[in-house]
Order: sequence, then C-alpha cells, then structure tokens
Amino acid sequence: MVPTTSDEKAGKAAKRAPRPKAVTFENVALFDQALTLFDRAADVMGLDPHVRTILQQPKNQITVNFPVRMDDGRFKVFKGYRIQHNNVLGPYKGGIRYARFVRTDELKAMAFWMTMKNSLVGVPFGGAKGGVKIDPLLFSDSELQRITRRYTHALGMNIGPEWDIPAPDMGTNAQTMVWIADTYVNTIGSAERFAGRGVVTGKTINTGGSLGRDEATGRGVICTVRSWAAEKGVDLAKTTFAVQGFGNVGSFAAKILGGLGATLVAVQDHTGAVANPSGIDPAALGAHVRARGGVQGFAGAKASDDASFWATRCDILIPAALEYQITEEVAPTLRCRLVAEGANGPTAPAADAVLRKRGIEVIPDILCNAGGVVVSFFEWTQNRRGESWTLEEVRGKLQSYMDAAYAQVMATARERTIDARTAAYVVSLARLQAVYRERGIFP
Ligand code: NAD
Repeated sequence: MVPTTSDEKAGKAAKRAPRPKAVTFENVALFDQALTLFDRAADVMGLDPHVRTILQQPKNQITVNFPVRMDDGRFKVFKGYRIQHNNVLGPYKGGIRYARFVRTDELKAMAFWMTMKNSLVGVPFGGAKGGVKIDPLLFSDSELQRITRRYTHALGMNIGPEWDIPAPDMGTNAQTMVWIADTYVNTIGSAERFAGRGVVTGKTINTGGSLGRDEATGRGVICTVRSWAAEKGVDLAKTTFAVQGFGNVGSFAAKILGGLGATLVAVQDHTGAVANPSGIDPAALGAHVRARGGVQGFAGAKASDDASFWATRCDILIPAALEYQITEEVAPTLRCRLVAEGANGPTAPAADAVLRKRGIEVIPDILCNAGGVVVSFFEWTQNRRGESWTLEEVRGKLQSYMDAAYAQVMATARERTIDARTAAYVVSLARLQAVYRERGIFP
C-alpha cells in the first residue's frame, strides 16, 4: 500500500531542512535572456529573417488549473503548464518539472533550448517544456500521483507519442512518467493502449523505459568532457572537478567522471555546500543524498558555503542544478578551466561574456546535456518497434551522437572563429533553416 500519512510528508519535509535557498532568477526575464544567445548566432550566420521571427516565440502556451483531493480530504487547485516551442523537426519534446518557482517565462526559455538541442544533436523532435508549480517534497506520494494524473488529464490531447512527448526533469522521475503514461493510455481508448506508452520517455524499465535512460544526461555530459580532454591533451585521471546539484544529472556525471579517475572536490545543492580537496566519494555522497535529501551533513567532506563553492580551484566545473546560477557576480570568482553545463541555462548571458574574457572554456548546455534527449529518442524508437536494446547498445549509440555533435560544434567554432556556444546555435539553426527553406510556410 502506498503510504499517505502525514508521517511521510514530515519525513520529506525533514529532508528539506534547512529551507531551500531562494532562487536567483525568479524575477529575471529568462526567455529574453535566452533570445540574446539566439540573436548572436542568428547575426553571425545571417539567419533568414522569417525563420528568426518564427523561432522568437513558442507556437503554443498551455496553462491548466486543476483540482486535486489531498490526503486530509481537502481540495486544492494546482497550476500546470506546457509550452510547445517548435515542431518543424518532429513531435514536441521536453521535460516536465515540479518546482515552486515554475512559471511561463522560464518554461518558454527551456522549450526554446529544447528546439535548439534537438536540432543540434539531430534527433527528430521539436522543443517543449512543462511543469507544475509545486514543491514536490511537500506532498505525499499518493498526492503526487493524483496531481500528476490530473495534470495529464488536463493536458488531454495536447500530448501524445506523435505530438508532444514529455520526460523527467527537476523534481520528477521515472515514477512520474509511468503515472503520466498510465493516465494517458487509460483516457485515449484501448486501440492505442500499447503505442500510447510512447507518450513519455524516461519510464521505468518494466513499463517500457530504456536501459541507460536514467544515467543518460550525466553520461552525455562526460562524453563531451572526454572529447574536450582528448582535444586539449588533458589526462582526466589527473583532473579535479566540482558539481552543483547532486540529483539525476549531477550524481551520474560525478560517478562517471570519478570512474575515469578524476577527483570530486566540492558539491553544492539546495541544502548547502561540502568540500574535500582530497576527494569526495560520489557513491557515498549519492547514498547520503538519497537518505537525507541533500549534501548537507555528509561525513566525507567539510561543510562549506556558496561563495567558496564557486571559487573552488578545480579543472572542471559542472553546474547541474538550475538555470541562471553563474551570474555576472559569480563568473569573476570561478577558478576552473572548463564549465561543462549539465543544467539548462546555468550561465547568464552577461556572465558568459565574462567567462569568454577570462578564457574559461564552456561546453554549452544544448550540447553538453543532450544525452538525456538522445536516449529518450532511443526509448521512443524502441517503444515504436517493440524492441529492448542492451545497455551496451544504448551507451555505444549515445557516445556516437555526442561525439558527432561535439565535433561539429568545435569544427564550426574553428571555421568561423566564434565561441562554442555561438557555434552550437549556428549548427542548430542551420538545420532548422534548411527545413524551413525546403518546406516553406503553409499555406
Ligand atoms: P533533480 O531534481 O534530479 O536534481 C536537481 C538538483 O538541483 C538537486 O541536487 C537539488 O538539490 C539542486 N538544487 C535545487 N535547487 C537548488 C538551489 N537553489 N541551489 C543549488 N542547488 C539546487 O534534477 P535533474 O534532472 O538532475 O536536473 C538538473 C538540471 O539538468 C536542470 O537544469 C534540468 O533542466 C537539466 N537537465 C536534466 C535532464 C534530465 O534528463 N534529467 C536532461 C537535460 C537537462
């Protein structure tokens, strides 16, 4: 039986102590900021004006308000969103986040980045993002299940395996995706029940998920770090690294990079920061985070603070928590050689300029964290074909996609003498522009 008691909620709330830090971007116009990166690349390549205009707005913005019965019998109304930015390359695709700060502006930026990312790595998807404005730690599992099912029902035919395919993101996981898939197949009619599983990716293996999807984003991050190291002649076994966020992306990235011999020296999340210049064991920290909800109190490292975390002397910094973390104030304090962006939009555009000036290299988000959507594409393909690929097959194919995208971005950067982020956008926009040129605009 699923626990629904207030004990469970109290346990979850205890995991949050102390209260999560305020996020820095709540009042920032993130979509406008995202468009400044887009404009830079569009200017460099001379993007067709009509393509520029089309991509400057999402196609659809869906807001739903839906009631849910709480464990104590009361009803609450929740607000959910789905932003569908563009589908010229294929069905809309992008994660669903549960966070108290979720808002339309942020999701518009995220959906736009998904369009760019999917085009860049060459998967046949457009871009979308969704979310529900809740702190998931404040609800029991049965409440979360009802919230998820009502949100799915409220979205109705706005999602579907050939139309818009959500996936996990901050605050959601494989269980969330299974609830969405089950609600979807139970409300669309029996003829499509089996194919209906493809409405989401990132499911559990038993319900049609793919091996290797859980680790995919973190693994993809490290694929790009390996390409960078090979290019620069850096021996990763001799490097140190720091990670912001120890959830899905951060923890897998740390485990995989640690497995290559690199030393994890500092980690920060919503509960605090910890540091140990002699090395932090990613597996032990992962177990601590699962048990306690955050890095605070980890015995294998000393408590630290945010300013010290950002100023950690290390070779590689992996922001893998939230957007808008490396701000204009933080950027001058970094003491790393490479920023590998596991999170979406972790670097503010103004901070990006500081990093460029300081010669700190960046593997941009739309390239660096694309591993998740690449393996989501594999999951969707397996669902359509009724196949189950081995872990080796998934990892091998993921590596090929990531290596090809990395090589293309860096070749473009060299050819045009531009930074890697602008180059990533140029590659992505060139593909979108080619499709618009060939298809034209209906009617
Ligand atoms: P998650 O919910 O598993 O983990 C989020 C992490 O961020 C946690 O460690 C949390 O403690 C930390 N965090 C939250 N608020 C914070 C704050 N105020 N300060 C510092 N840390 C804070 O989420 P995730 O799936 O690992 O996603 C992390 C990032 O990666 C997001 O930007 C997400 O959009 C991006 N991303 C995720 C995937 C994926 O497949 N999950 C794919 C591509 C990109």
